[in-house]
Amino acid sequence: MQVTVLEAAKEFGEVGAGIQLGPNAMKVLAALGLLKDVLQQACLPQSIVMIDAESGKHISRILLGDAVREKYGQVYASMHRADLHAILLCAARAAGVQLETDTALLKYEHSAQSVCRLDADLSYKSDVLIGADGLWSKVREQMLADGAPRATGHAAFRALVPKAALPEALRTPHVRTWWARDVHVVSYPIRQQSGDTSLWNLVVLAEMPSANESGWALKASHSDVMQLFKRTEPELQALLEAGGAQQQGWKRWNLFDRQPLGASQMVDQRFGRVALLGDAAHPMLPYLAQGAAMALEDAWVLAKCLSSHAQVPLALQAYAAQRANRNARVVQTARRNGRIFHLSGAMALARNTVLAVQGTSVLGMPWLYGCDVT
Ligand SMILES: Cc1cc2nc3c(=O)[nH]c(=O)nc-3n(C[C@H](O)[C@H](O)[C@H](O)COP(=O)(O)OP(=O)(O)OC[C@H]3O[C@@H](n4cnc5c(N)ncnc54)[C@H](O)[C@@H]3O)c2cc1C
Repeated sequence: MQVTVLEAAKEFGEVGAGIQLGPNAMKVLAALGLLKDVLQQACLPQSIVMIDAESGKHISRILLGDAVREKYGQVYASMHRADLHAILLCAARAAGVQLETDTALLKYEHSAQSVCRLDADLSYKSDVLIGADGLWSKVREQMLADGAPRATGHAAFRALVPKAALPEALRTPHVRTWWARDVHVVSYPIRQQSGDTSLWNLVVLAEMPSANESGWALKASHSDVMQLFKRTEPELQALLEAGGAQQQGWKRWNLFDRQPLGASQMVDQRFGRVALLGDAAHPMLPYLAQGAAMALEDAWVLAKCLSSHAQVPLALQAYAAQRANRNARVVQTARRNGRIFHLSGAMALARNTVLAVQGTSVLGMPWLYGCDVT
């Protein structure tokens, strides 16, 4: 297939900070032939540790590392988004993909035979158009006219912290998550380099009334972040202080999602040549760390369907049929996780007790990590 990517941004560059890649996402990267490149740059956290943000008590732990590799056939990795992006970009170039930056798609026009980009000129005519244009998708707007994404009332604050600035006890490679009422914190390594130059991602996720404005990297102050906590245990306190002390400080972005789509809504039903993929189809809260993983899975299934069906409309229908239920389940599980992470009082106590006893079996999610779309 001959592929052209139309990218609105002026250039391909840094996109956010950290990303966790579950074994299901790693299987797609491996099938694309990118496992070696990814493993050269990624970190392999050894476990996910859940901690009470006020008392510091460990609630539960999910083993990653070899345990995940043995159970699900691939590792659980974490890395800098820019590093993953660079690997994908390089692979796209090597595969002969034509990459056009500074080229926003605003509208399309289609017929039974073709699709056209429709704005300044009609220079891109193709057999199929994939709207992989994210949360504020223009393709979706035209295709479904279903309004803006839902402001969830949740916001994320992110900082990058070099290893040397971390509290001593937190310098080991684990995903750590601290839970409190209406707020939780996630931290994990994203670059493992020799010495103290390794980098950790730190994200605070909170329910707050002012979380409606869109956009990446809104400004945020250290006191905005600290106000979210009534009390924090000393290691978390030191970690948050370290986040605020970095030169780039905190960046904030508000979180949006949407009701999951059915298969028929993922494809423009008039001529069947336009489909949605990734956040354009299924934006979700980041509480399962699976949004990009679902975009990777979508992409693999789409390519498989396009290469195994002679007609585009049949290929896109098959793609949507294979993806809709799984994407919907992930969107809903991410929402459910938000409710669980942010419990307080007696409900939080009950949650902690259940997780202490059954942690791995409750949170291990074989349906998610065990899936191999390749
Ligand atoms: C705080 C946070 C943490 C997260 N952590 C994880 C994680 O650990 N693991 C994980 O798997 N997922 C995670 N996610 C989710 C993940 O970031 C998204 O699901 C993923 O980026 C979606 O990819 P996408 O390509 O569909 O959309 P995007 O990443 O939004 O990319 C869309 C692209 O389209 C371009 N574009 C937009 N409009 C147009 C247009 N009109 N014409 C041309 N180009 C256009 C944009 O410039 C952009 O390059 C997290 C999200 C958040 C907010």
